[in-house]
Amino acid sequence: MSNIEKVCIIYTGGTIGMLPPKKNNPLSPLVPATSENLKKFAHFLEKLPVETVFYEMDPIDSSDMNPDYWIDMARVIRNNYNQYSGFVILHGTDTMTYTATALSFLLENIDKPVVITGSQIPITKAGNDAAQNFASAVMFAAPDTFNIPVIPEVSIFFNNKLLRGNRAKKISSFGYAGFDSYNYPILADMGEDIFVNKTVIRKPSEKKIFIYQNLEKNVFSFDIFPGIAHQTIRHIFNIPNLKGVVLKTYGAGNAPTDHKFLKEIETAVNKKNLVIVNVTQCIKGTVKPKRYDAGAKLLSRGVISGADMTQEAALVKMMFLLGCGYDIDTTKKLMQKDLRGEISADAPKK
Ligand code: ASP
Repeated sequence: MSNIEKVCIIYTGGTIGMLPPKKNNPLSPLVPATSENLKKFAHFLEKLPVETVFYEMDPIDSSDMNPDYWIDMARVIRNNYNQYSGFVILHGTDTMTYTATALSFLLENIDKPVVITGSQIPITKAGNDAAQNFASAVMFAAPDTFNIPVIPEVSIFFNNKLLRGNRAKKISSFGYAGFDSYNYPILADMGEDIFVNKTVIRKPSEKKIFIYQNLEKNVFSFDIFPGIAHQTIRHIFNIPNLKGVVLKTYGAGNAPTDHKFLKEIETAVNKKNLVIVNVTQCIKGTVKPKRYDAGAKLLSRGVISGADMTQEAALVKMMFLLGCGYDIDTTKKLMQKDLRGEISADAPKK
């Protein structure tokens, strides 16, 4: 048997593999292309002493990503799990953090790297960031070959950083440094040397991989803004079959204190049994539910604190827990518990 590590490349589309549809007009809006096209420009893979095997899913602009697609990805990983040292998912940047979060929940007990990457510039274009991101992601997915510690979690590689997927934020619509994670240290830094922050990576599981295959789609997320009408909020809470809402609040978890607004919240929690989770609109920091009266009023109406979770993490975690079929109380409890490294255990919850 050969000792060459095998990496499974799951291609889902995104800018990395996109092309202008009109050959004579390079500025025509980019559309997803097949992995065959991408492979022609991925000569650098031949220089890596690993075997790479492509698995093509439906190539999409990641703006078309959806929960069913996430479940399909989880199945591909589970079905191929034993044959590979790790997985690289090529993905559009727009919804990459949602996908990374979803996979972190859907895949339980992993002991191998699942690295998601993409690029701001297609691999076919000069000056692209695709080649570096792609090659680096493959290296993290073949840790023995490159003498890197195994990072057994769902991560995002971009520019020179490996980030925990369910902590990451897309921070630039164009720059090479497209992602960051402000509430959690970076997992690894890539340059001439590779520095892995071993103290912050997850422990490998000794149990067999298990995948969840249900996500609740009847959830919603919205931003509070000055002047938001209580009638608007009532309409949102009245959406048929709605189960949960992520409320994006100001600063440390604050929202309007007026009576009509709070009444809508109270009704949604107590009469409609909605799970409402408070996360901050800020890219850095945590909800401190009792720092201000404007936050404490939400807490006393039954809104739970999402602490330092990103909006993506809170929303997708809600889809996951409700999809598991937990009752409301258990869902609320688990929303505040660290399940996959998505929330800091010591962040204030009450
Ligand atoms: N719209 C593209 C996508 O998310 C953007 C990108 O990949 O950078 O598929």
